Amino acid sequence: MFSIFKRSKEQTSARELKKYYKIVEQINQLEATYSPMTDEELQAMTLKFKERLDAGETIQAIVPDAFAVVREASKRVLNMRHFDVQLIGGLVLTEGNIAEMPTGEGKTLVASLPSYVRALEGKGVHVITVNDYLAKRDFELIGQIHRFLGLTVGLNVPMMEPADKKVAYNADITYGVGTEFGFDYLRDNMAHSIADKVQRPYHFAIIDEVDSVLIDEAKTPLIIAGKMSANEELHRIAAMLATRFKVEEDYDFDDETKATSLTETGIEKVEAAFGVDNLYDLEHQTLYHYVIQAVRAHVMFECDVDYIVRDDKIELVDMFTGRILEGRSLSDGLHQAIEAKEGVTITEENKAQAQVTIQNYFRMYPTLSGMTGTAKTQEKEIMEVYAMSVIQIPTNRPRIRIDQTDLVFATSEEKYEYVAQEALRRHETGQPVLIGTTSILQSEKVASYLKKYGLKFQLLNAKTVEQEVELISEAGQKNRITVATNMAGRGTDIVLGEGVEALGGLYVIGTEKHESRRVDNQLRGRSGRQGDPGETQFILSIEDDMFKRFAKDDVEKFNKKMVRNEIGRIENKEVNELIERTQRIVEGAHFSMREYNLKLDDVINDQRRVVYALRDSVLRREDLIAQLKSMFDETIDFAVRDAAPEELDRIEWDYDKMERTVNSLFLTDVIVDREEAKVARILAAMQPEMDALKATIDTFQENEQVMAIIPQVMLGFIDRMWVKHLEQMAHLKEGIGLRHYQQEDPMRIYQREGLELFGKNYQELRRSIVEELITFMKTISTNQEEI
Ligand code: ADP
Repeated sequence: MFSIFKRSKEQTSARELKKYYKIVEQINQLEATYSPMTDEELQAMTLKFKERLDAGETIQAIVPDAFAVVREASKRVLNMRHFDVQLIGGLVLTEGNIAEMPTGEGKTLVASLPSYVRALEGKGVHVITVNDYLAKRDFELIGQIHRFLGLTVGLNVPMMEPADKKVAYNADITYGVGTEFGFDYLRDNMAHSIADKVQRPYHFAIIDEVDSVLIDEAKTPLIIAGKMSANEELHRIAAMLATRFKVEEDYDFDDETKATSLTETGIEKVEAAFGVDNLYDLEHQTLYHYVIQAVRAHVMFECDVDYIVRDDKIELVDMFTGRILEGRSLSDGLHQAIEAKEGVTITEENKAQAQVTIQNYFRMYPTLSGMTGTAKTQEKEIMEVYAMSVIQIPTNRPRIRIDQTDLVFATSEEKYEYVAQEALRRHETGQPVLIGTTSILQSEKVASYLKKYGLKFQLLNAKTVEQEVELISEAGQKNRITVATNMAGRGTDIVLGEGVEALGGLYVIGTEKHESRRVDNQLRGRSGRQGDPGETQFILSIEDDMFKRFAKDDVEKFNKKMVRNEIGRIENKEVNELIERTQRIVEGAHFSMREYNLKLDDVINDQRRVVYALRDSVLRREDLIAQLKSMFDETIDFAVRDAAPEELDRIEWDYDKMERTVNSLFLTDVIVDREEAKVARILAAMQPEMDALKATIDTFQENEQVMAIIPQVMLGFIDRMWVKHLEQMAHLKEGIGLRHYQQEDPMRIYQREGLELFGKNYQELRRSIVEELITFMKTISTNQEEI
């Protein structure tokens, strides 16, 4: 009992697990009910469960029976009976949490349980895997259980025809990688008719290797880009300015981060060149961007080194091989900035037409769940962002793997020597050795040392996913030495070869600490699966990148009292604390970074929801006429208030501008009373004309052709506005980081100005639609007059 008091915060308590064991007990008892059933009787249960749900019963109420049925089906179809702990994993997933289960515990089979139960609701379950290979494997293997029980199963992979995707999404359970689901979401929101959409509303998702998907891969957003013409004039002026600029006087440039910013002097020069009075104004964001890119083109790219000019084109050069990178171009206007610098023709830019982060995509699911071997260290973040708890599931058989304390060397040379010697020592007994690295470059380094000792090994660099999976799965064979990055062949089971158990199982060597303990645990988890023996050992050096970058001062202090043995190993106990502390600092820094980015993305996310909802309603032709009429109202209202701001004295009001704007929107002109000081009364005076217009809009409903054109026109405007808005938001984000001297929190600036920008663009969108509509109405009425 004492151990419970001592357990670290990062462990799930026995008390928490108790409620699951109770349900497992029930499921075990139900085996007596279902195992005597014929296949047909068992299959008929699916319909019965659906009826119970339809009658108002909860998922919770049917879980014990449903799990018992899936287990029985699995016994018959795959000859595998879910272990009790796998049932617990299934329960955790069903309620929308994360089941932490070490490698080899059979997560694939675990997913068969919640996917079945939640699919009974008929709204589709998405099972997310880390690659297409695993999606296909699970679809085929686990899919057999579900098909046996009368559910449909779909596979969603890239490059599929929309019609096939639709079939996949309409299945009860759909397998695929997360990014493809995200891209489908974006493409659906660029569709020109409802029929082109492939996804249904989201219901429930199970994410395998959930930490990789939501944490590691969440750094880069999913972007769909399209070609857009660039503003040639702006590029040319910006390029001219950049050639005259001097570093430190006009701009600052950080060699390491490539961060570029203008100084006050630089800003003044830009303002003079473009004739604007405040470059920080929202409407000048784009200008700022052009100048920054021009400066970058100037300082970061050298002709005949980074690129060449050939046939009026900029061609990029690969700095490792010196070869031309055919057809490649830089994004975000940088390529065009170089073109302007060299005075060649300016090409079209690649612009984001839609984008979403993986985090914000998955946050749209009403219930989300996940599985992984390693998430507990990140529970706080997962809880904050996704409201999921991480429950550690006990292993089916006790874990007997030995995790050794880290060995730390003074130099990197001594470290690699020791890695090779250690591999040799183990290899002499026949014990398989897996050496994990943090990069391909490091893998090659390890390989060179192994060669020195005459060792034969498998190097997993530049292999296809299939080859990786194959080589990793063989890493437990006698006499094998495998070198791989921590990421290679993730999720692959390493089965021990014959006689390897007696040799101590798989010996894993980690050669560098990752910036997250979670990834180190993934590496350790490759050994000691399903109660196998195994051993893990990290062999590090104080010269490793992480310490150099994040603990420079600490290391310097430490070096003074460092005691080393004859082979260079550091003997001071504090070195292990230093490692642990550094890793925690780095983890914390990464977390803050992700949190910050997510907050930034939240701003666009809210706006995306508004625009996509509008887009959807247009696609569905929902209240199209009512929408147009209210857009019309808002536009007139805005035009009047814009020219007559309440906070200004009416002497300052611009009656002429007001009249011009509203008359561009009315069928017949109105005259605004110059003496009128009340906005409400000005609007009231326009009421008859507004009513007449609305009456005309009402008549559209009778004309099928018109009703078909209007949504297309609206979609065109909405999509163009969104692309433009995304670009402006990107420029805004680029600008805020550089404004610290304005003594305001950059996040606050971004939120405020982002909202302002959206308001402005949304208003403009409404006006463009209404204007287009009026032009259209005028042509109709002249046509009719002619008839
Ligand atoms: P994980 O993804 O958790 O690492 P896998 O899903 O790859 O584990 O499963 C590991 C191995 O265990 C697979 O070969 C699988 O077929 C097997 N396995 C899983 N569950 C069971 C079970 N209940 N009975 C028998 N074998 C199982």
